Amino acid sequence: MTTEVGRLREQVSGEVISPDDAVYEEARKVHNAMIDRRPRVIVRCAGVEDVVAAVNVARESGTDLAVRGGSHSVPGFGTADDAVVVDLCRMQAVDVDAEAMTARAQGGATWGAFNDATHAHGLATTGGIISTTGVGGLTLGGGIGYLSRGCGLSCDNLISAEVVAADGKIISASERENEDLFWALRGGGGNFGVVTSFEYRLHPIREVYGGPMLYELSDAATVLKFYRDFIKDAPEELGGFPAWQIAPPLPFIPEDRHGDTFLLFVACWAGPTEDGEAALAPFREIAPVVAEQVGPMPYPALNSAFDDLVPDGLQHYWKANFVRELTDEAIEAHLEHGPKVPAVNSTVHIYPINGACHRVEPDATAFAYRDATFATVIAGMWPDPAHNEDNVAWVRDFYEATAPHSEEGGYINFMAEDDQDRIRANYRGNYDRLVDVKRKYDPGNLFHLNQNIRP
Ligand SMILES: Cc1cc2nc3c(=O)[nH]c(=O)nc-3n(C[C@H](O)[C@H](O)[C@H](O)COP(=O)(O)OP(=O)(O)OC[C@H]3O[C@@H](n4cnc5c(N)ncnc54)[C@H](O)[C@@H]3O)c2cc1C
Repeated sequence: MTTEVGRLREQVSGEVISPDDAVYEEARKVHNAMIDRRPRVIVRCAGVEDVVAAVNVARESGTDLAVRGGSHSVPGFGTADDAVVVDLCRMQAVDVDAEAMTARAQGGATWGAFNDATHAHGLATTGGIISTTGVGGLTLGGGIGYLSRGCGLSCDNLISAEVVAADGKIISASERENEDLFWALRGGGGNFGVVTSFEYRLHPIREVYGGPMLYELSDAATVLKFYRDFIKDAPEELGGFPAWQIAPPLPFIPEDRHGDTFLLFVACWAGPTEDGEAALAPFREIAPVVAEQVGPMPYPALNSAFDDLVPDGLQHYWKANFVRELTDEAIEAHLEHGPKVPAVNSTVHIYPINGACHRVEPDATAFAYRDATFATVIAGMWPDPAHNEDNVAWVRDFYEATAPHSEEGGYINFMAEDDQDRIRANYRGNYDRLVDVKRKYDPGNLFHLNQNIRP
């Protein structure tokens, strides 16, 4: 047993898992099965004091420190060889103050737990579209979801955060306390400390009208061009995105079309349910819909509708870019590479960035691309490691084809590990200020296993 493990066992009330423990093999796994790392110790923290202990032990012993919320980082930032891992999976509580329309989530909560808790009060905020994703990593990188157009990014809904800083101190960040840290947490990723609790603003959204609509590939150009123009000024209650997708064997899709590739529009109307049909009518008029599963549903149901396509244990390789203008040339690139999507789990989403996201100034939070109109993610996900080469090649080819029509930066939460050289571009004019905040709160770069801002 190393000294670090011994010290942690003395100080921590949660679980301290080292390579000798039976649960270690299970505990070291993260969502992306391509990531195969062997930390020195995994601390499943039971509370803030455990986080403080783990941060102090890592810093004092000079051991790498990885932080895990929902474990969904595609580059696997939540784990590392020979590291101390702060695993927040036991810190999942979500408390809702329905009157104040706020919710406080512990740093390891998932969006599934969050949405269920707020939904009970008819409230919601922008979160990810897969319920198993962590509120932690997603919010700290920005947070794009169905509600972004009307409610802003997840980070725009952050009211305050409790943070264990690199020196082990517990501090608060909000508009009133440590404002520089609060600014940096809203888009700057995991660079500044372990967030043990996030406080969010909620919105009165209980039920949504939406779901996937499938179009033939021959209509894809028409639908993409229509979406590009329509979503700019569409009512902000309308969220959703086009996606390239192989049809899974689901009952709402004709059996003889299972396995065929389609362009989808995944819709989410968060206004009055009775207006949903009319809001989506233009998407029915533009081209015939081959199959659909659209209707009224609880907001958490839409946010978990695609969970089965992304179970733990798939191989992941992703690329991302921001687009200011989705030109006809960019759409041509999509039309060339989208239909080649190689696996049913893989997809490409073109998320709209407008509405409430644009009403926040580019320097008001660390998330800088407030003038982007779309965020594209090319998400390669497949089960069999034997197919890694082909799938990674598809993602890279797609990315290369769209990059000339895109901005230099991409959303940090959708980027791969080999995108570290794009971090400065991602933060544009905010980068230098992020470096200043990093120097103040983490001068030794203890929190470096992330899309790193070097002090
Ligand atoms: C299946 C899937 C679906 C996704 N869907 C969306 C989506 O709809 N919208 C979107 O915006 N993004 C989405 N993402 C991207 C997602 O935002 C990132 O993968 C994010 O890092 C996941 O956060 P996590 O807490 O689950 O991951 P983790 O791997 O646990 O964390 C990633 C990194 O974030 C930091 N971090 C996490 N929690 C904390 C904390 N409490 N305090 C300090 N640092 C922390 C750490 O640096 C950590 O290494 C998706 C990813 C996947 C794999």
